[in-house]
This record gives sequence, C-alpha cells and structure tokens, in this order.
Amino acid sequence: MHKAHIALLSSPGLGHLIPVIELGKHLSLHHKLKVTILAVTSQSSEAESHILESANCCKLIEIQPPDISPLLHNQAHIVERLCVVMRESVPAIRSALTTMPHLPSVLIVDIFGFQSLSIAREFNMLTYIYVASNAWFFSLLLYSPILHQHVDGPYQDHKQPFLIPGCTPVRPQDVVEPMLDRNTKQYEEYIEQAKGMAKGDGILVNTWEQLQRKDLESLRDENLLGGILKGRPVYAIGPLVRSPEPATCATTELLAWLDQQPTESVVYVSFGSGGTLSYEQTVEVALGLELSHFRFIWVVRPPNTGSADSAFFSTGDGSRDADDPTNFLPEGFLDRTQEVGRVVPQWAPQVRILRHPSVGGFLSHCGWSSTLESITNGVPMVVWPLYAEQRMNATLLAEELGVAVRPKVLPAKKVVGREEVASMVKEIMEVEKEGKPNPIRKRARELKESAMKALEEGGSSYTALCHVAKQCDASPARTYTTN
Ligand code: UDP
Repeated sequence: MHKAHIALLSSPGLGHLIPVIELGKHLSLHHKLKVTILAVTSQSSEAESHILESANCCKLIEIQPPDISPLLHNQAHIVERLCVVMRESVPAIRSALTTMPHLPSVLIVDIFGFQSLSIAREFNMLTYIYVASNAWFFSLLLYSPILHQHVDGPYQDHKQPFLIPGCTPVRPQDVVEPMLDRNTKQYEEYIEQAKGMAKGDGILVNTWEQLQRKDLESLRDENLLGGILKGRPVYAIGPLVRSPEPATCATTELLAWLDQQPTESVVYVSFGSGGTLSYEQTVEVALGLELSHFRFIWVVRPPNTGSADSAFFSTGDGSRDADDPTNFLPEGFLDRTQEVGRVVPQWAPQVRILRHPSVGGFLSHCGWSSTLESITNGVPMVVWPLYAEQRMNATLLAEELGVAVRPKVLPAKKVVGREEVASMVKEIMEVEKEGKPNPIRKRARELKESAMKALEEGGSSYTALCHVAKQCDASPARTYTTN
C-alpha cells in the first residue's frame, strides 16, 4: 500500500531531470511512497521523452517552460536562464500542486527549484533540497555569499585557493562557471541561489559518506559550514544512477558491435547531455582517438560557435546536419576508423555502454551523473570539464580520488592536442603500467565497491534514504481548501 504523497520538482535539462527521476523511482519502488514528479521541461527531444517514460512508477506532470525571451538578452548564460525559468514557473507549479486530488505532504526540489519552497511553506509541507551533484560543490555554493563579501575582484585572478571551512580549498581556476564573471546577471542569480539553499528542512546529496567524508562533516558541523545550514540535516543518499535504458532499434546495432569487442578494450567518449566542442577541438579529439589505436564509441555533436553548453536546451534535435558527422569530422576519419570505432550522433545509451564488459574507459565532461555512472561501473575516466561545476568534479576525480587523468590544454591554441588525447586514453586504458596492474583501473574498481557498499542494505546511503523516507511518511497529510 502506498503511504505518504511526495512531490519532486525538476528544472529543465536532462542532467537535472535524470537524477530527480531516479530519486523518485527509489522512493516509490523501494520505500512505497506515492511520488509525483513535476518536470519543467526543456525543448522536447526523443531522449527527453524516453527519460520521462522511464518514470512510469511515479505520476508525471510536465510543466511547459514559460516564455522568458522578453526577460533575457540572447546571450544570457545557462544559470541565469534556469533561475529565471524556474522563478517564472512558480505560478504553474503552484497550480499543479494545488489541483492534485491529494496535496503532497513533502516537496523535494533540485538546486534550481528553491524558489518554489515558498509554496511548500504556504501549505506547511516538509521540504528537501536535492543536490544532484557532489558535496564539495555544494560546500562552495553554500559558502559563495561569504566569499562574495570577502573576496575582491575576479575570483579566477586570485593567486591563492579559496578556503572553504573544513573542505578542500578551491583553486581560482576551478570555481564554478557563474563565478567567472562577477559583473553578470548570472552571478547575481547564483548568489541568490546560494542563499536559497538554507531554506529547505533538509539537504539530500547524491554522494556517499566514504567518498566525501570531509565535506559532509563540514556541512554538518555548526562551527564549519553547518553553521550556514543552521542545523538542517544533510543526507548522503547516493550514488543514485539510472538502470540501463531499454534497447531500441537504433541502439541494438551499437550494442551488438560492443558484444564483439574484447573485454575492456573500448573507450567511450561523451560530453554529457548538452556539451559541445569547438571545430578545432573536435578535429583534435578525432585524430587523437585514431592515434591512440584504441577502440572507441564517440557521441558527437556539431561543433559550437562559442559556448561549450550550446546544445544544453536542445539535445537530440535530430536535424539532418546534426546527425551527419561527415559535415564536421576530419576527412576520411570515419572510413579509416570503421573497424575500431563507432560514431553516434547526438545521444547514446550511456548507462548500457558504461556497464558493458567491453568498455574500459570513459573520456567525459565529468557531469556528476556521468561521473557516478562511470564509478558505479568501475570505469576510469579522462576528465574534460566544460561548464557548470565540472572543473571541481575533474579536480576531485583526478587529484583526490585518483580515478581519472586530466589532459593539458595547449596554451597557444587553447585546445587539447591530438597527442595529448591519445596519451590520456592510453593512460586509462592500458591494463598494465611498468609491469604492474594500472593503478587507475584498480582505483576505479575500489570506488565501485565502496559505492555498492553504501547502497546495500545497512550501508550508509541505504540507511540515510530509509531515514528520509520515514520522515516523509511521518509528515502529516495536507489538505487544501479554497476560500
Ligand atoms: N546521457 C546519455 N546519453 C548521451 C549523453 C548523456 O544517456 O549521449 C545521460 C548520461 O547518462 C547522464 C546525463 O545524460 O545521466 C548527463 O548528466 P551529467 O550530469 O553527466 O551531465 P550534464 O548533461 O548535466 O552536463
């Protein structure tokens, strides 16, 4: 029998929708809560439709994004767009909630949905903020209003790392994207967002205790970052990752090809749900893969004309140009590599690929969901951060967790050269190094085990999510009456 009714709110973008749906599925299937997902959608795409369909154990309400074009200039950055979309969606979200036959007693929002917490307060709902990223990033976000007061000038011009109480200091070049220019509306929105994080009743983070003990302790210690949260509990409930996608006609051939490749011989290359490279960089990746002589699957998108996240709101549009890589890959590349590689336009079944025994490495933009999908399959990474908090993710993975390598950019050309691409791929794919098992691959297997332990019955994340589910269940049902 279903128990409490809870609502989960997702902001636009597959990188936000996927982890919210995964949390909803866990709460519904494993904890028998009645779950409604409110998804503020982006431009509809085939990939988005498949992901929405996968939430079939939850009730799904799609909220069409409002037209924000009169409120923004054309070049508005992604964080500004998301904050404005979510603010302008509050009336629609309120209406969706209050027209439900049974008002939910709990509202869980992602980090862009904090503005809807006012609706929850109105109806006395229990609220959580769901951080579908890592605890170190959340620490920086939470601490940013204080940095804003104490740091002068552009963050990235500072010589010393920024000290975040109880956490690993953040290097100036690793700060999150909205901190790169303090004179933008995006930065203003980011600081408001940071202030909004201390407004829920609790915080859920898609990480686990053993992975990020130090940051989690700081978030709970009232003498450190916990002071900002004023006693709000922080639960590490991850890694919550998707189960493999159902096979479709388009993916069957790809998976059949993977079946024929030797164990751990294929490197998977993908830049997330919306990441794109410049034309020059796309050419270097292609020639670097070829130079490495390793087998590969590469999800390609047409090169960008300026912004690395330029496909973010329009993934998988299926337009003819976008689907024809010969328009932008080096001449002859597809012919020369047809025996060893597969190029997939726009979107691939990533979870299926990463869990396939033939895959031995992942060249990734290291978005947090991709990171978790890699770790939970014991796959080492070449980290290639593009936007958002990905530079922090890359540092965490390469320098703290030892499960990734990070390529060097050629300063004069501002691209990663083909030789570097090839050398990084070798670094993670080679089974042995100096006669010993490759340490990075060993580390990837250790992290996979640690993740599995956190999720198994009695593990730290399992116990934390049980606790949250119990709290949700104990939250009294709400009624809504019109005056
Ligand atoms: N993804 C996928 N196929 C692709 C590209 C991405 O299934 O071709 C999924 C991926 O498995 C992950 C999500 O899209 O679950 C991307 O989220 P992430 O946090 O890694 O990055 P973002 O797209 O938000 O930058």
